[in-house]
Amino acid sequence: MEIIDIKIIPREYKYKEPFRIATGIRDWEVNLEIEIILKNGIRGIGEASSVMISYLFSKNSILSLEKTLKNILVGENILRYKTLLKKLKTLSFIPSVMAGAEYAVISAFCNLKNIPPYIFFGGEKEVIESDRTIGIDSLENMIKKAKEYYNEGFNLLKIKVGVNLEEDLRKVVEIQRALPSARFIVDANQGFDVKSAIIFAKELYREKIKVEIFEQPVLRTDIDGLKLVRTHSPFPIAGDESVYTIYDGFRLIKEDCIDFINIKLMKSGIYDALGIIELARAGNKGLMIGCMGESSLGISQSIHFSAGTGAFSYCDLDSHLLIEEDGFRGSFIQEGGKIRVK
Ligand code: MN
Repeated sequence: MEIIDIKIIPREYKYKEPFRIATGIRDWEVNLEIEIILKNGIRGIGEASSVMISYLFSKNSILSLEKTLKNILVGENILRYKTLLKKLKTLSFIPSVMAGAEYAVISAFCNLKNIPPYIFFGGEKEVIESDRTIGIDSLENMIKKAKEYYNEGFNLLKIKVGVNLEEDLRKVVEIQRALPSARFIVDANQGFDVKSAIIFAKELYREKIKVEIFEQPVLRTDIDGLKLVRTHSPFPIAGDESVYTIYDGFRLIKEDCIDFINIKLMKSGIYDALGIIELARAGNKGLMIGCMGESSLGISQSIHFSAGTGAFSYCDLDSHLLIEEDGFRGSFIQEGGKIRVK
């Protein structure tokens, strides 16, 4: 079954309110929808989020991307999907576009075969559970958000830190006091130095805060620093910004400087994400899956990937809840933190 055309459709999204993390503030996205059209009219669609590469998304660059994708895919047989995913690796310098194009291939294949994508990925689970993220804000606002999300059914909350050791500690402790049974992932987005990261983890432990993962405490390239933090932290350490490619994953596992890898399809693409899952299995490391500004359409990709592979102990798939959308377009049903694929 031949691929006859590719279309890229840019779509602009505004955040409900500005979302702040240690490395910056976001209030809009221009995500690209990549559509594959088969000879019999069946289509497949994927989404590339614009985080990190929005500067590329001018009208001319979108046209040239469309041309590039047509060169790679038009005339190819969708049934040979693995060959197509491998060919798309030439786009690894723009990983979110690669991920969106890979998912479009998989989605077209699934629509042709009349199976949902989570079955394509292995069909391990139909229900997954996601946390919800609280961006950096005033103490009062963060407590308010935490209560709101917890009451909506999110028992695991991700708290963004990494700006100011004292303030960050106070915020996490106060949120736990307000919600004694809530559990947390704390994510510094590279914001701490090694010493602050270790103090942060030890203090939270002393205060009996229910931290399940301490994510990206220090600079992404500081492998020795990560290792040092891991040695002294009472909580498991996850690498996020440190792992884009499959090689990054290999290196972190080999250096034994993390307990978890946070896979994001927009960082590594789908083909390499599957590889990182197997690497983590070989190295006895845990996995989480995250997101980067995807809409309900794009987050659906990671939800089906997570459910189908059944590989993730933690899911942080909530970007669609942060942005305004005209209509919901995901292939899933959400009730609080519980997400059911369909
Ligand atoms: Mn992170």
